[in-house]
Amino acid sequence: MATQLLKTVSDTPAVPADDRIRLAGLGRKEIAAHLTALEDDLKIEPKKVRMRTKQIFHWIYNYGVTEWDAMTNIAKPLREKLAQHFTLARPEIVERLISTDGTRKYLIRMAPGIEVESVFIPDVSKTGALCVSSQVGCTLTCNFCHTGTQRLVRNLTSQEIVLQVLIARDDLGEWPTTQENRRLTNIVFMGMGEPLYNTDAVGDSLDTICDGEGLGIGRRRITVSTSGVVPEIGPMGERTKAMLAISLHAANDDLRTQIMPINKKYPLAELMQACRDYPGLNNSRRITFEYVMLKGVNDSPKHAKQLIKLLRGIPAKVNLIPFNPWPGTDYVCSDWETIETFADMVNAAGYASPIRTPRGRDIFAACGQLKSESEKLRASVKRKAALANGTPADTDA
Ligand code: SF4
Repeated sequence: MATQLLKTVSDTPAVPADDRIRLAGLGRKEIAAHLTALEDDLKIEPKKVRMRTKQIFHWIYNYGVTEWDAMTNIAKPLREKLAQHFTLARPEIVERLISTDGTRKYLIRMAPGIEVESVFIPDVSKTGALCVSSQVGCTLTCNFCHTGTQRLVRNLTSQEIVLQVLIARDDLGEWPTTQENRRLTNIVFMGMGEPLYNTDAVGDSLDTICDGEGLGIGRRRITVSTSGVVPEIGPMGERTKAMLAISLHAANDDLRTQIMPINKKYPLAELMQACRDYPGLNNSRRITFEYVMLKGVNDSPKHAKQLIKLLRGIPAKVNLIPFNPWPGTDYVCSDWETIETFADMVNAAGYASPIRTPRGRDIFAACGQLKSESEKLRASVKRKAALANGTPADTDA
């Protein structure tokens, strides 16, 4: 499929060229704290901070406003004061790509050198999911995943996670929140990074994303995916009440350790026990197990039997993901027939096992491909800059 580059620059207000504090993306407590810190200058009585916070929160997250003047239930003098200290601008969208299948990928610059990708995946029905990143790079090295070749730069803040949702909503034109037929209905933490190595920010971001007076996305429509950071699985479930996905990919320890080195630290027995103990687990709150289909590695009937045995007793669904290749990988996607045989076996054992249609492959937005395109972007930007300067481009990207 040919890449359809519809737009390279965002229509949304760019990163503020000043040192005002960005309120967009912050939670209620943080907004209130900023108002309190400046209450003398803003002339907000302490007893009215809560009310003002509620108003501002509602405008940001229900209406998606980016200008203080849009907040018509706040008097003009206060709006002017707020605008002096705070901005509602979004971070810069470095690039926005739309796949021929409707998938949208955003490369967002949160701060100098801090670039993350998020991907909106429209579903066949009216729903759609935004795949958000929780870290820039990753400390883990799952060797089917290109993000895993990126060193961790840093954890994203809760604000930076929420901003990914605001940017997608802006782009989809889905304000106010109450409008019907919204396509961004679900959030999956399956972008760059391991969310359970950034649990505080992930938990706080969920509080904002799920707030009924704001973005209003239900907790059961949010899935946090982990490679298997066992000690954090239960506490994350208690804290967020989100759905759980496990990036599994192999059903025996030797193979899983080979594919996902974290398995050495937290082997399958411990991982599966954490799944059995997941708060609120029942047949209507099943755990999703992600299983990437790697030709000749994990895709035989023997592997399917191991998987069925492993899942016994756990309310589960298995997502079979045809491997999305990236430059430099030795893995190859399993043949379609092999995937179907595998799916049939898992299905016959009572576990729903849909084969995920690869989405956004033409824009390098498919599962396990994130970050690699931004590497390319940086390389091409470097090359262009080098050409412009008449100097050789370095080749580290
Ligand atoms: S699959 Fe997730 S945890 Fe593993 S390397 Fe990729 S981003 Fe990191």
